[in-house]
Amino acid sequence: MANIIKCRGFVLNTMPFKESSLIASVLTNNLGKVKLLAKGIRRPRSKMCGAMERFNFDELIYYKRDFKEIYTLSDAVVIDSYSEIRGDPYKVSAAVVLCEFYDRTLPAEAPDRASFSELTRFLKGLKKTGRTGVRALVVGHLCRALSGSGVMPHLNDCVRCHRPAGGGNGRLDFSVMAGGVVCDKHHDDTVIGLSQQTVKTLVNLYRGAPLELSDNAVREIESFMVDYMHLHLNNLNLRSLKHFK
Ligand SMILES: [Zn+2]
Repeated sequence: MANIIKCRGFVLNTMPFKESSLIASVLTNNLGKVKLLAKGIRRPRSKMCGAMERFNFDELIYYKRDFKEIYTLSDAVVIDSYSEIRGDPYKVSAAVVLCEFYDRTLPAEAPDRASFSELTRFLKGLKKTGRTGVRALVVGHLCRALSGSGVMPHLNDCVRCHRPAGGGNGRLDFSVMAGGVVCDKHHDDTVIGLSQQTVKTLVNLYRGAPLELSDNAVREIESFMVDYMHLHLNNLNLRSLKHFK
């Protein structure tokens, strides 16, 4: 039996299907991530034409059947196309980074209000920020998204033994492999030195403080982010990060 589902969601990703259709991955407000088949949407006269662009926020109606992984989209109306972002290729590449992250890390159909709110906040911030603030916004939200994926870095004391973290000269030893700061005894080959200020910024960020990252914090977090995601999120390697320079 089919249920008619009405929801709102962000288009995370799309994939052409047959001659004129698309399969879209959508993060919804109350049903988590769903896969929707938009039949005939690539025909110029489709009533849904343009509705399933990446990071559009849409009102959606689809038919949900049991034992299916992909549901047929019946209608899609754009609520916000984020034209302020779309006019700037640099901001577009930034938006796509978070879309790809959620598309590739969220499980299917597990309600996830936190990720939905986080993506809403991110796109709202991206809309408003000037070009110079884009990189800090992406890095800060990627850090917060790590927490949603259950792989938030451990920052209070040694991640392995809970003794005080090692380091020196205003820096703390952070092990990318262990996923947090480490003491002298648990030093490993993947340790980098993070400034105490950057560690403090991360702690505040995970406490829900407004995102305020210095250029140095952005640089230091970027220096481990790719390896960190690869090690802690099933070899995740975001293609979109390569385009976001
Ligand atoms: Zn230790």
